[in-house]
Amino acid sequence: MFPKAFFQNYIERRVKSHCLDGNRRLEKFLDSFLNLLHGNILSAVSLSTQIVKDRKDREDKVSLWLDEFCRELSEVISLPRSDLKGIEHQEVIDIEFLSSVMTKAVDDLRDKLKKELADADMSLFSTQPHTILAEHFSGCWEQCPFCGAVCTNTMQGHDGDHQVVLHRPQALKGWRTCETHHLVTTICSSNVAGEISFVTDDEVSIPYKRYRDAGPPYSTWNILPDPSMQAYWKWFVSHFQTELEALYNGKFQGRGEIPEAWRRMTKQEALSELDKR
Ligand SMILES: [Zn+2]
Ligand SMILES: [Zn+2]
Repeated sequence: MFPKAFFQNYIERRVKSHCLDGNRRLEKFLDSFLNLLHGNILSAVSLSTQIVKDRKDREDKVSLWLDEFCRELSEVISLPRSDLKGIEHQEVIDIEFLSSVMTKAVDDLRDKLKKELADADMSLFSTQPHTILAEHFSGCWEQCPFCGAVCTNTMQGHDGDHQVVLHRPQALKGWRTCETHHLVTTICSSNVAGEISFVTDDEVSIPYKRYRDAGPPYSTWNILPDPSMQAYWKWFVSHFQTELEALYNGKFQGRGEIPEAWRRMTKQEALSELDKR
């Protein structure tokens, strides 16, 4: 799975479990939102009634009441005044009566919606929360042609070179030595400072030091010389050695021998180093 698809899938799974697991956070969130709206509407009913009931100068009290009601709620919900035209034509003279009918209707509606909340799921959102989050946190997604590390620029189609602080062992992208087809455990940021070369898909040998000469995608990356490698990838390569060997049809042998120190690395050590960053 490509990084972007994995990222979207991961966020979707986490959002769903966060909202719908045993804690029923979605139901609680909707319930508190419903209570808030209910309170706002009731206070708009009460305020509009207070303002209009003593107006002796106006015949069209219902119309005035609706004006106030919509104005009070304008920042809370979208309630076009024109939608309430029908009520104006009803013969309502007693504003207190209108107020009590509205209060009763709002209470009934709240109770009806409350019952539906128990079955609420993510389908009620017109735009899925995980889509909003994935778009918000999305970035460049280009991968280093040597190691597969994802560019850390937060903008898609950004200016300048792709870049990432920490690269990975090149075996993760299937790089093998030419003669022996052994998988390569070194990292690109180390190789660009060394004397060895790599061979492109067009069978051209290029020194790592001049990797940009290989053209795109190599030339679109700025790989700074840095020998540091995260503990996580040392653990990953030794832990998934068999899977990587099968995936890329090569062996971790010869120059690609997995160092003993990598094998001693525990998953916990690898993860705690990631947590520190
Ligand atoms: Zn790289
Ligand atoms: Zn980039």
